[in-house]
Amino acid sequence: MRKSLLLTLLIATIFSIARADEGMWLPLFLKYNEAEMQSLGFKLTAEDVYSVNHHSMKDAVMLFGGGCTGELISSQGLVLTNHHCGYSNVQAHSTMEHNYLQDGFWAKTMAEEIPTPGLTVTFLIYMEDVTRQVLKDVNSNTGEKERQELVKRNSETIIAKLESTTPFKAAIKPFYYGNQYFMFVTQTYRDVRLVGVPPESIGKFGGDSDNWMWPRHTGDFSLWRIYTDKNGQPADYSPDNVPMKPAKWFPISIGGVNEEDFTLVFGYPGTTHQFYLSDAVDIVANVQNPIAIQARTIRLDAMKRYMNQDPRIRLMYSAKANSISNGWKKWQGESKGIRECNVVEKKQKEEQDFIRWVNADPTLKDELGNLIPEMRSLYKDYRSQVQTTTYISECLFGVEMIQKVVHPFVRTLVQGDEASFAANRDKIIANYQKFCESYYQPIDKECFVNLLTYYFTSQDISQIPTALQKYCGGDLCGAESEVKAKMEQLWEKMSTTAPYFTDQTKFVDYLSKANYKKVAKLANSEIVTLYNELFKVYVDTYSKSRETEKELDKHYRDYVNALMSKESDKVFYPDANLTLRVTYGQVSGFSPADGVQYAHYTTLDGIIAKEDPDVYDYKVDPKLKQLWEKKDYGRYANSKGELPVAFIASNHTTGGNSGSPVINANGHLIGTNFDRVWEGTMSDINYDVSRCRNISLDARYFLFIVDKFAGAQNLIDEMTIVED
Ligand code: ASP
Repeated sequence: MRKSLLLTLLIATIFSIARADEGMWLPLFLKYNEAEMQSLGFKLTAEDVYSVNHHSMKDAVMLFGGGCTGELISSQGLVLTNHHCGYSNVQAHSTMEHNYLQDGFWAKTMAEEIPTPGLTVTFLIYMEDVTRQVLKDVNSNTGEKERQELVKRNSETIIAKLESTTPFKAAIKPFYYGNQYFMFVTQTYRDVRLVGVPPESIGKFGGDSDNWMWPRHTGDFSLWRIYTDKNGQPADYSPDNVPMKPAKWFPISIGGVNEEDFTLVFGYPGTTHQFYLSDAVDIVANVQNPIAIQARTIRLDAMKRYMNQDPRIRLMYSAKANSISNGWKKWQGESKGIRECNVVEKKQKEEQDFIRWVNADPTLKDELGNLIPEMRSLYKDYRSQVQTTTYISECLFGVEMIQKVVHPFVRTLVQGDEASFAANRDKIIANYQKFCESYYQPIDKECFVNLLTYYFTSQDISQIPTALQKYCGGDLCGAESEVKAKMEQLWEKMSTTAPYFTDQTKFVDYLSKANYKKVAKLANSEIVTLYNELFKVYVDTYSKSRETEKELDKHYRDYVNALMSKESDKVFYPDANLTLRVTYGQVSGFSPADGVQYAHYTTLDGIIAKEDPDVYDYKVDPKLKQLWEKKDYGRYANSKGELPVAFIASNHTTGGNSGSPVINANGHLIGTNFDRVWEGTMSDINYDVSRCRNISLDARYFLFIVDKFAGAQNLIDEMTIVED
């Protein structure tokens, strides 16, 4: 007996140490982590990080756009985020004459800063646990549908009350699958201007080849400024607006980053799935990821070939290729990590343990005995639903012409009526003209042929709509070359029978002159049939999969609730859901494979070593090279005389944390989070401190580029630069 108690204590100790780096903590409850944070070196308090009573770090952190994080770094509303977070906005400001993406941009005065309509930043004013109010009138007899309605109605009441009495917006989000609810009260600023961005050869150095990789040398940052009206309130763009005067901004430390230093990342992680059952993990690693990876390989191959030939096409396709490739590479690392860390098996063991715990208690058995078997059975259906929707979304909607032209054209015009035709025609023409500004048809033709060939040859014939089985090869979808020839013929046929879909010059002319009757006749054309048949399967299966997900979520609510009582001494953290979180850890290298050890930082020397003038992603700007040759690093060099570029640490981050401030023990900014190492991208499902690392831009490299490279002394002057 005594022996087993000791064993329990030992396991608990190991367990809590092993978890030190894992966790995306709600700032509201950070006091529970304070002791551990301080034991790791943090010199401040939880209240310094998040407080509703006085200004705290959270006042300097924002949701940048719809899915990144940014931070205030001056008393005049200057914002630091990643280069890739502002990428599409910088692309929109770029032309062949003023190619800010390629050449960079630095406003030397505030008057030169570029307004960016549509870009917003949102600050959290406070968050509050509203579980009791949201679940008012919900009891153990409440059916699921009724529960959802009550949650919706109660939430609306709480939000309406808040919004009618304050100038703020509110949103309520579920946590732990609806075991808890929090309200987030926020304020959004709408006049955000571009201040500075390095050339792509710095801001995207290493491109897709280095994305998600360590060692990394990407100067992934851009600078923006928030403007307000004269009273300091959020306002639409106006030349009369003034720079924001924030109460809090981050001092920037040039004191350095050493192995084992404490780091805290404060930002907006998007989505994680730590509670997934083994069945879900298996579907991600062995169904969803492989299909999406293969389809995206096809698209990226086509895009890259043409982008490498012509700078005009590179400009048109850079942002698209980036977003396609981001998931493509991440999923490869994720599947590899899941395999190598035996996550499916690990989860299966946890589930068996859970089942044993439930079955050991008759009351629990009565209540939860069927939980896991029911979830397993739901996952059986879900597996095939996910397979179908992933194939169709990646292959059909991977064709730009189908997604951006055929889809709106058919849904709104062909299947509409006279009235919807009249109401939507001009809008569709305008969207189409915008779409054509960055559309290169030979790329899309290649995607059309290869993606649909992949779809028809990889699916079981029973999954292919009968009307489309004619596209399969003689061996019923077995012969790739045969299917490919059919897809090529289909594209050619479309070019003659429906040229407006494939010929940019003809679409506008056709649609401007067409009437509803003429357009409606297209309903039976071959391309519209193909689109309709696949889209129908997609919509039907997708809605079934949403139903399955809802069922599963309901089961997860019970599962997570039960897990919490099973492991009552463990501190849980909720999955990421694009709400403000704190994660903390330490600067540390790691070993990605036997015999390989990664250092915790990289330097400008590494950029020069990677230089390859023939490869776009590895070109080095001549000015950067000159600074390197002269070792003209100013006060930004480390104690060895090197210029640090990036570092890794054990902070638990995910998509959405891009641009997050990385804070040292004194609460000063030492970096900007921008990525994770490829070996650890499974951290969205299974965080493992032996291989999961976040990658941050070293603040000293950022300052060096602004100061020495761009000569933007005006910006350096407004920042607070400190030594510790
Ligand atoms: N690169 C990611 C982002 O864009 C960050 C991450 O996934 O670690 O938010």
